[in-house]
Amino acid sequence: MFFIFGVGKKTIKTHWEEGMTTCERCRNTRQWPLKKVTSWFTFFLIPIVPYSVQYVKVCPVCGHYTEITKEKYESGEEKPDEMTLEVRKPVNNAKHMSEVQRRFNKEMAAYNATEAQKKQDDKNDQ
Ligand SMILES: [Zn+2]
Repeated sequence: MFFIFGVGKKTIKTHWEEGMTTCERCRNTRQWPLKKVTSWFTFFLIPIVPYSVQYVKVCPVCGHYTEITKEKYESGEEKPDEMTLEVRKPVNNAKHMSEVQRRFNKEMAAYNATEAQKKQDDKNDQ
């Protein structure tokens, strides 16, 4: 008989901030999702006890995020977010990725490539 305990399982709920925010890192102006990230102790991979709750707002373009208060998070509009962003590390395990996530990651990769190209072009112009 053995037991598997774990930490690091995260669940993410999303609200959406009203209005637009300009990202200090990538300078894109978008509506930012507000995220409640709950970390769980797991027992046989089942989340049992939450041990940390973090509220953040995340740039939907580059993934830059800042901490926010619970009140701020709760003031946001609740909308289902199929494109669950892993806040600290990207999801690379294809088996556990939904079709939506896969498509999203692909689009993000394509987008980032275009942005990088643009930056490169800007440099060349100077
Ligand atoms: Zn950004």
